[in-house]
Amino acid sequence: MHYKVCKFGGTSVATTEKIQQIEHILSQDTTRRCVVLSAPGKAPGASTKVTDLLIAVVKKRIDGSDAKTELDSVRKRYCEIYVPLGIAEAKVLEAVSILEKRVAASTADSAKYRDAVVATGEDLSARLFAEYLSCKGTKAVYISPQDAGLIVTANFGDAQPVEGAYERLAKLAAKCDEAIVIFPGFFGFTEAGDIATFSRGGSDLTGAILAGAMDAVEYENFTDVDGIFSANPNVVADPVLIPALTYREMRELSYMGFNVLHEEAVRPVMARKIPIRLRNTGNLKNEGTLIVSERLPGERDIIGIAGGGRFCSFNLQKFLMNREKGFGRRLLSIFEDMGLSYEHCPSGVDNISVVIDQDQLRPESVNNLLRTIEEQLAPDEIKVEFGIALIAVVGEGLLHKVGVLGQAANALSRAGVNIKLANQGSSELSMIFGIDAIDEDRALNALYAEFFSK
Ligand code: ASP
Repeated sequence: MHYKVCKFGGTSVATTEKIQQIEHILSQDTTRRCVVLSAPGKAPGASTKVTDLLIAVVKKRIDGSDAKTELDSVRKRYCEIYVPLGIAEAKVLEAVSILEKRVAASTADSAKYRDAVVATGEDLSARLFAEYLSCKGTKAVYISPQDAGLIVTANFGDAQPVEGAYERLAKLAAKCDEAIVIFPGFFGFTEAGDIATFSRGGSDLTGAILAGAMDAVEYENFTDVDGIFSANPNVVADPVLIPALTYREMRELSYMGFNVLHEEAVRPVMARKIPIRLRNTGNLKNEGTLIVSERLPGERDIIGIAGGGRFCSFNLQKFLMNREKGFGRRLLSIFEDMGLSYEHCPSGVDNISVVIDQDQLRPESVNNLLRTIEEQLAPDEIKVEFGIALIAVVGEGLLHKVGVLGQAANALSRAGVNIKLANQGSSELSMIFGIDAIDEDRALNALYAEFFSK
């Protein structure tokens, strides 16, 4: 039997009412038998996510100070959510004692310590929710990532599932035949038996890994928004909701700052063409956004307008650069040797630019880069530009549509936005423009008006 994997994010497990809503959602569809839960997020009267409280606990313990306030807040959160659901306070406190033990452990290996403590937010959500369903007479079972075989690399704070994990996790489907499986998001166990978390927001990844391993019918990702919008609603007024998009479009949009779903969560489901549906826990009437391998052409070629980040561009000029073999390779290897990754590398006849994320730079980085580039490549001129925003027009329709670049460039010029660089990759899935960061909101609104409001 194939099931749906349902992941509920932090705000969806943050209050008693939300937990009841999850129970209701599961009862609506008998194929929803594998549930992945986050740690409680923000809620009215609780302005800090449990994960952030736990990160604060770790910091204090490592600094040698007392983390009682944060621990009390965590304890209070779980009691406030689960006691009104009929779970005895002693039971909730018994679950929380797992956290207390982990907090009291040695901090000698700080990365390992951090992950063991921080992962407990998800672990407690899963244990207590399974308890709640059982109390209500629903057959449900908490399953630990260790027992299920979610083995991950020992990159604490940024772990990845190991090769064999999928095969072992496939056996979860048989468990779902017997009971609703409740699984904590965000972490796995290393071969050595230590807890290791994914990067922040990693419960999305747990859901995707389980969906991929179990060959799920669908991966339903429940959150607190109706789905993915065609532009950032904080910048563009009332952007349309995207009904369906492809994995590739999703990847482009999340690269450009659409962070509704963890960046890595597409990969585990893509190979098996498992649809991901992003939807709102609190608005079931809305079917959300579907992410699939192929979408219908629909009425729009362009699916989204995205923008974000702060980038800087190293612009090199050298007469007859095109004849100098290995120039580009040597240039990029200078960035690589300094541990910097590059985002784009547009080039002309005698010029080439390397665009990198500004946040990677340390105070000495630019000086050292310029020095090494001058020494090794002797350009006629090299200039650095900071504060560039990248904005993108994304859509499978770019492949066959003529004139989109011109249309976008015209819209930007009418809005008085100067284009510093333009880049269309060979996939023809997105068109990226580099502009002054200060023009970003104006540019996004101009492009949205051009492609969506007409
Ligand atoms: N609780 C973790 C975080 O806040 C993981 C997650 O919710 O996905 O990053």
